[in-house]
Amino acid sequence: MVSLPYMRQSHLFTKTVKEAPKDESALNAQLLARGGFVYKNSAGVYSYLPLGWRVIRAISQIVREEMDAVGGQELLMPALHDKHYLKATGRWDVDVVYKVIAGGEKEPSFNISWTHEEILAEIAAKYVNSYKDLPFAAYQIQTKFRHEPRAKSGLLRGREFLMKDLYSFHASEADLYDYYAKVAEAYRKVFVRCGLTAYYTLAAGGDFTIDNTNEFQVISGVGEDTIHVCKKCGYAENKEVSTLKKGDACPKCDGTIEEEKAVEVGNIFPLGTKYSKAFGLTFTDEKGVKKDVVMGSYGIGISRLMGVIVEQYHDAKGIIWPAAVAPFEAHLLALGGADGAGVYHALQTHGVQVLYDDRDASAGEKFADADLIGIPWRIVVSPKVGEGKVEIKGRADDHAQIMTLEEALEKMRKELDIGKSVK
Ligand code: ATP
Ligand code: MG
Repeated sequence: MVSLPYMRQSHLFTKTVKEAPKDESALNAQLLARGGFVYKNSAGVYSYLPLGWRVIRAISQIVREEMDAVGGQELLMPALHDKHYLKATGRWDVDVVYKVIAGGEKEPSFNISWTHEEILAEIAAKYVNSYKDLPFAAYQIQTKFRHEPRAKSGLLRGREFLMKDLYSFHASEADLYDYYAKVAEAYRKVFVRCGLTAYYTLAAGGDFTIDNTNEFQVISGVGEDTIHVCKKCGYAENKEVSTLKKGDACPKCDGTIEEEKAVEVGNIFPLGTKYSKAFGLTFTDEKGVKKDVVMGSYGIGISRLMGVIVEQYHDAKGIIWPAAVAPFEAHLLALGGADGAGVYHALQTHGVQVLYDDRDASAGEKFADADLIGIPWRIVVSPKVGEGKVEIKGRADDHAQIMTLEEALEKMRKELDIGKSVK
């Protein structure tokens, strides 16, 4: 078990604050800023501080595992894109694209990444020749930049944000749709592992897709989308394309359609051949006929997910992280002058990721901070709890229990990870 200096809270350079920043109206950003998870550099632009970065890494790890499981090959593409990419597909003048004017230039010659279909289509064209080179899929977790006019929802809508984007390459539409269904299932696993219920939602296509797209929508009052959803079977349509209305019978089961506000956490697109055509991405089939490669693309908002999780999991005192994405598994508080070092090392030896509050602060302050930061298990050592015993409480529990460290470890082991069982 790695022990990093900041796992002793007295070394952690960030501090909690009682008041949310005045210019921050979104609840997710208020709690994350108060807990020292993020720092807002400007509207829609955040730094992920040590605690926040651990959450981003945990979410990324879940996404990675599920993308690897459907054969995704991880890579990293650039954030700085020469203008020939977007010019080739007519997307250079899309209004959310940030363009870059270099010193000494009058016109922008680059844009910063808003998506990567063009980049990977050009790369793939170098390696794909025959049907034998297909299918394959590649993904990255990378920073995207979009000039969002309303960046007021904290991590839900960044101008700079983290996205996982997967792209797939196929010899036929049938093969694309086969893979599309596999990715949809992988996405379902990702969201369940993150503690979220995300509805697979029929959504609008565009001039770059061969059909409708599908979004994954989490019901939330802060959502900017509206969906028509049957909570009995999970069937959902984005209101933008829906022919259903509230109160209608569900077309898939005997449930009823409800209308809900929702946040889009993922979106998958059957692209077809638009990008392949623009970059000469062709292959020769079994009969020697040259054809355009059929593409799909699949996005998950990694940083938006962090915001959505906070919107779903909090109370008046702070965040309540689902264990699978928590920055640590246990928060050890040494109170009343007790030395927690022995328990700290014992927890680490047993593989528990622990933040040790060794600060010289009052019990009240430490409890309030533990509730705000929201680590799943709070473990207290103090003269009151007694020699050889710890007090343990789940973040969402009403009452604490006193037991031996061994018993506490057993309890955590039994209840720790809501996500690992989803396979
Ligand atoms: P939206 O409709 O919310 O603007 P989009 O449809 O433009 O999103 P996509 O291009 O489909 O977004 O991006 C894939 C995923 O990236 C989205 O499903 C979402 O989770 C995330 N995402 C998109 N825009 C943002 C943003 N500005 N901030 C944070 N996450 C974002
Ligand atoms: Mg979308």
